[in-house]
Amino acid sequence: MTEFSRRGVIGGSAALAGGLAMLAGQASAQTASEPPTAAQTGAPASAPFPSFRFPLGSITAQKQYPGGWGKEVNAENFPPSESFAGVLMELKPGGLRELHWHANAAEWAYVIDGACRITVIDPGGGSETLDLTAGDVWFFPRGHGHSIEGLGPSGTTFVLVFDNGAFSEFATFSITDWLAHTPVEVLAKNLGVPVSTFAAFPKKEAYISLGAPPGATPWPPAPGSLDTPPLTHGYHLLGQQPRRYPGGTVRLVSQKEFPISASMTGALITLEPGALREMHWHPNADEWQLYLAGTGQMTVFGSAGRASTDRFGKLDVGYVPRGCGHYIENVGDDELQVLLVLNSGTYEEISLTQWLASNPKPLLANNFSVPEATFESIPEGEVFITG
Ligand code: MN
Ligand code: MN
Repeated sequence: MTEFSRRGVIGGSAALAGGLAMLAGQASAQTASEPPTAAQTGAPASAPFPSFRFPLGSITAQKQYPGGWGKEVNAENFPPSESFAGVLMELKPGGLRELHWHANAAEWAYVIDGACRITVIDPGGGSETLDLTAGDVWFFPRGHGHSIEGLGPSGTTFVLVFDNGAFSEFATFSITDWLAHTPVEVLAKNLGVPVSTFAAFPKKEAYISLGAPPGATPWPPAPGSLDTPPLTHGYHLLGQQPRRYPGGTVRLVSQKEFPISASMTGALITLEPGALREMHWHPNADEWQLYLAGTGQMTVFGSAGRASTDRFGKLDVGYVPRGCGHYIENVGDDELQVLLVLNSGTYEEISLTQWLASNPKPLLANNFSVPEATFESIPEGEVFITG
């Protein structure tokens, strides 16, 4: 299964709620307002299985500057997150996340609020400047040099997602740091200017600077002013027509929709109150999540009787190791919005409904030691989201 499928969307929801709760033997019987107990999830109390929630929204920013702030989650403060690091960042109008690059991770980002301008150079010398607003995504392959500016009137808030748990946004290759650690004679020779040019340059990393908010980019650009890269670094995710299911929607951006995003896939999922993002796993990728709105509950199944359930609110981070079964429920009164990022450019999943539907009913009857009739009304294919 490498594609979303709408098979099975019509019908089967009621049967799913009843029949699969029994089949799953997991936490489906719990009420929406009470997290399941260890006994309900089948997890021995002593099972060494961690929480997969990190409260990124409520921790203190580790980097604060007049132009903005950033706070980070990675494997250091959230050990389950072996394959991802995330950063929540805010830039004021004129706040500049300075020119930099990353040596050990690609950067996938989603604009949560406001507007920003990204400027990026690729190894072919192609450069691109894009103004992005809430709901937009950017992707910088590992090593592409870039900067981010907060635009007026309100600046911007965004999340950065890096495909390496050992990564730190606060140990990146910044242009001020590099130049401050290069003899001015070398800089003068390199740039063909007097040594005195560098007298007032920063003596250490600027990280986020603050200046006048940038003006509008000229349009159309001056003739001869562009050296456009072959693949754009920006994608309008919220502008995408969503796939609609009973109980929710999904917008997906993999390499297929966004060709430069060769190593990461993102998705924006909405669930109505009570809706379920069905039980599934990803054969080819770990999953990093940022809960954007509403109240969700996710259970991660880790084999050998291990399962972990957490409740997620706004700006909480979730994580699902590759191959672990999981599902998400909206347990609040408002729409649940979850941003997902997977560390593969190809989206793959196997869902419980799809898997069961692909097996003969006598085989299922044997597997669960129940009559074949038990499976008469289960969905005939993938459900994805059900109300
Ligand atoms: Mn960056
Ligand atoms: Mn998933």
